[in-house]
Amino acid sequence: MISENLHKIQQEIQDSCALVSRNASDVCLTAVTKSVDTETTRVLLENGVRDCAENRVEKLLEKKAALKDYPDVRWHFIGNLQRRKVKSIINEIDFFHALDSIKLAQEIQKRAEHPINCFVEVNVSQEATKQGIFVEEVMAFIEALASFDKIRVVGLMTMAPLTASKDEQHQIFKELKRIQQQIADLHLTHAPCLETSMGMSNDFPIAIQEGATFIRVGTALFQ
Ligand SMILES: *Cc1c(COP(=O)(O)O)cnc(C)c1O
Repeated sequence: MISENLHKIQQEIQDSCALVSRNASDVCLTAVTKSVDTETTRVLLENGVRDCAENRVEKLLEKKAALKDYPDVRWHFIGNLQRRKVKSIINEIDFFHALDSIKLAQEIQKRAEHPINCFVEVNVSQEATKQGIFVEEVMAFIEALASFDKIRVVGLMTMAPLTASKDEQHQIFKELKRIQQQIADLHLTHAPCLETSMGMSNDFPIAIQEGATFIRVGTALFQ
């Protein structure tokens, strides 16, 4: 049952926070609803969830419209966003978790009506198949975004490989946190970079131990 799954996840968030003396209210549970329909998403909202993430433009727009009786939901776009679809989605979302190229930034700059909260996606594990900017390129990328007044870098996002061991998960999330802090310390106007979007169903407790402020959880909510 969704409400039981949700309760269990919230408990795990609290336990993980307690391990490292963090406040559970500093971790935002972002429900990844890409695999479920609108009515199942509605059940989450009825149970108090207010952050929903989708990875398909059409599905996000459809759900947002169908659930507009919950106007305080924050909609997150995760995953690859094709440039030709930026126009239809960018002013409909509260967070974009996958900024990873200047070309995409240019398109967002062109289409956005206000500054968009973006996470720069970082490929910490250097997997060839993964999206995201390599660690050594992140600083230059963030600096290059300074001229885009429609892009606000709220933080960094990463995914650990599904095959990563617990040790590797710790290392990957620790590294993202380190880079995020390094950027935050620069106090850049366009890139406050105070957040880290990391941790999914299989690794969110570890991500929280390493400082995640947004976890993106799908499967564990609906199994
Ligand atoms: C699907 C997805 C998730 C959620 O993964 P689960 O393992 O179902 O929790 C998180 N982040 C991204 C980018 C995704 O595509």
